[in-house]
Amino acid sequence: MLFHRCVYCGGALKPFRSEPLSCAYDEINLSAHLKSEKSPTLSSGKCISCQSIIANDFRMSDEVDILNAYTQAPSAYVSRDQDFQGNLPFYKTIEKLINPKAKPMTICDVGCNSGQFLRSLDESWDKFGVEPGSLALQLLEDQSINTHQGTLANSPFPKQSMDYITYFDVFEHLPNPKEEIEIAKSFLKQNGKLAILTGNSTSMTAKAAGPTWTYLSHVGHISVPSEKALTQALSLSGFTKIETLKLSHPYSRSFFDWLILLTLSKILGTPARIKFFNRRWTVPLFQDHMLVIAS
Ligand SMILES: [Zn+2]
Repeated sequence: MLFHRCVYCGGALKPFRSEPLSCAYDEINLSAHLKSEKSPTLSSGKCISCQSIIANDFRMSDEVDILNAYTQAPSAYVSRDQDFQGNLPFYKTIEKLINPKAKPMTICDVGCNSGQFLRSLDESWDKFGVEPGSLALQLLEDQSINTHQGTLANSPFPKQSMDYITYFDVFEHLPNPKEEIEIAKSFLKQNGKLAILTGNSTSMTAKAAGPTWTYLSHVGHISVPSEKALTQALSLSGFTKIETLKLSHPYSRSFFDWLILLTLSKILGTPARIKFFNRRWTVPLFQDHMLVIAS
C-alpha cells in the first residue's frame, strides 16, 4: 500500500519530483536493495500544508521496510576516517551549541555510523551509540562507547537516562519521524535535550534548487521536513523550548559552485536530463540544513 500523505502533518502531497529508478542514483547500496522492487520511478510530493518533501512511492510501503536496508550497508556507506579531521570543526560547533556550559553529560547519538561525532567528544562524556549498520559499528569497538546495533526503540539502554539524544543526517531517512520523536523523548531525562540535524525543505537554497536539489537524489531521503513541520512535531510531543539554527552541512560546496550548478539546472531542466561529462549533475548542498534543539 502506498502512503500518499505527509508523514509530518497528514496533509496532501502535490507531485514534486519523479525520476526513473534506472538513473544513476546516489546511495548505490540502497538502490541495489530497492532495484529488486518493481517500481519504475522514484517520486516525491510536496505537502500542500507544511511544505515538507515526502517520498510518494514504494519506499514508504510497509513491505519494503526501507530502514532494514541499512543493516547490510556496505563499506562505502561508512563515514570515512580520512574525513574525520575535516569534519571536526563542525562537530565542535555542534558540541558548543548543544552543551554551552561544557558539563559532563550522558549522550546517545542515533544513527552514529562510525561514531565520528561521539569520538570528537572528550572522555568526560558518557557515550552511547545506536547504529543499524554492522560494518560501521565494528569501527567503534575499543572506543569506550556503549553501542547497540539496531534502532533506539529496540536498544537496551534505560528509559529516561540520557541528557542528550542526537540525530545527525538521520531524520530524512525515517518513514515515521513523529514516532521517532516520541521514542527519543522516552529515553531522555526530564530536562534532556534532543538535537536533530537534517535538510530543510523550506530553506532558501533548497527552494531555489527545487526538484534538482541534490539532497533529493539520495534514494534513502524519504522525508525532508520544513522547519515548521519539524518544530510542530516536537511541540506536539511535549517539547516546549525549541530552537532552530540554519546552517550548512559539512559536505556543502561553495556559493560559487552552488550558483553555477543552479544556473545549469535552470537551463537544462530536471535532474534526469542534466547528464553530461559522463555524470549526473544536481544542485549541491549549500545553507540548506537546520539544527533543531528541543527540550
Ligand atoms: Zn505536511
